[in-house]
Amino acid sequence: MISKPENEAPNNKGMCLECGTGALKLQHLTYFTWLNNELITVPDFPAYVCDICGRREYDGRAITWLNTLLNPETGRSSTSPRKAESTGANQAQP
Ligand SMILES: [Zn+2]
Repeated sequence: MISKPENEAPNNKGMCLECGTGALKLQHLTYFTWLNNELITVPDFPAYVCDICGRREYDGRAITWLNTLLNPETGRSSTSPRKAESTGANQAQP
């Protein structure tokens, strides 16, 4: 029986699907993306780069993480600063 390590360190992603020859290896690049006409650069972003054709594949978890960071919906606090409702002039006056 061949025991395969299931929890492999994701240092390479296997063979490149583009050229079928190279291997996708983990590198840290500067990732560029556009957000509302603003160019966002993320240094040291993990990406798998083919050592033959240079095809890049980004780690899905890293992309999800980045989208979470950039999504304005995510950082929104649930407590919106709302004015306390005035219950009307209900003060007992002596
Ligand atoms: Zn390739």
